[in-house]
Amino acid sequence: MAEERFDCVVVGGGPAGAAAAYTMAKAGLKVALIDRGEFPGAKNVFGGVLFRSQLEDMLPEFWKEAPLERSIVEERLMLLDEQGMVTLSHRNPGFADPPNSWSAMRSHFDAWFASKAEKAGAVPVYQTVVTELLREGDRVVGVRTDRQDGDLYADMVIVADGVNSLLGKALGVHREWQPDEVSLGVKEIIHMPKSVIESRFNLESNEGASIEFLGDTLGMTGLGFLYTNKESISIGVGIMVNDLQKAKIKPYAVLDHVKQHPYIRKLIAGGEMEEYSAHLIPEGGFHSMPALAGNGWMICGDAAQMVNAVNGEGTNLAILSG
Ligand SMILES: Cc1cc2nc3c(=O)[nH]c(=O)nc-3n(C[C@H](O)[C@H](O)[C@H](O)COP(=O)(O)OP(=O)(O)OC[C@H]3O[C@@H](n4cnc5c(N)ncnc54)[C@H](O)[C@@H]3O)c2cc1C
Repeated sequence: MAEERFDCVVVGGGPAGAAAAYTMAKAGLKVALIDRGEFPGAKNVFGGVLFRSQLEDMLPEFWKEAPLERSIVEERLMLLDEQGMVTLSHRNPGFADPPNSWSAMRSHFDAWFASKAEKAGAVPVYQTVVTELLREGDRVVGVRTDRQDGDLYADMVIVADGVNSLLGKALGVHREWQPDEVSLGVKEIIHMPKSVIESRFNLESNEGASIEFLGDTLGMTGLGFLYTNKESISIGVGIMVNDLQKAKIKPYAVLDHVKQHPYIRKLIAGGEMEEYSAHLIPEGGFHSMPALAGNGWMICGDAAQMVNAVNGEGTNLAILSG
């Protein structure tokens, strides 16, 4: 790769980075969007439910073309004990007109969102790892990548490299998160025929249900989720790392336990596990957020701890901050 100069280099093609690259490219700036994945989203993880408002401001009626799973028409909150549950359920077909939220797969959604940035003029630089920041004095002037001759220079570097943010650490704004500032999310995708999902969750074609549950997480602080996709169920838990350390329990053991709960078990019965993933979730909230800008750089999304710790929503804050 020849040494090149951009108005801005964006590191990370998740929702935060794609939003930043799209916005700047659309405004006519020369932007590079770098991601280490084969394509943005290739290995990204969320629950997940994607919300309308922040993305709609950028891409009106995006849901008519974005690769989404089901539009959520029912939200349930289940309070579990070992055997029983109390459920609060809110269902309204009006939720789908216009839709307020959707279940989604990150590998599809992130790739699509990054393609919007590319169409707006951002230069895609994928399968490329940013290894360090380039500086002149105390100013950040670009990034070094793992490609041969892979230095890219820019007036501004946007750091959107997710919760582990190596670049945030290099800037000195992102320290090692403390165990009480992050939870560990583990998730399974369970294949299930479309007809079974729709009869089991009382849904019509393209309608989806979002279920979040509290309790029965082996005495640890955390939240569980179950979302209906077109032909699968996403189920997972996010448990505070300090609790996992204290209890010396592996997060997948908590998920296995929750899956045996008498009411959760029935919802996933007969399904076949297709995929397992694990990822940290920022939980520190406002007080854990670092400085958001400095000389030649800005930081956004999970790299800046921008997750609503109450329900684990992060894509909307990532898009807004990007
Ligand atoms: C189990 C789980 C469930 C969740 N559920 C939900 C949900 O239902 N709804 C919701 O809104 N949010 C949810 N979240 C949170 C949400 O996933 C994040 O807040 C969101 O992905 C943050 O976006 P981001 O762009 O900041 O970071 P990321 O999505 O992590 O993207 C970072 C990108 O940077 C790239 N990258 C990293 N380092 C480098 C490097 N050195 N060089 C090049 N590229 C690099 C990565 O490949 C990645 O594409 C969940 C998270 C987890 C873990």
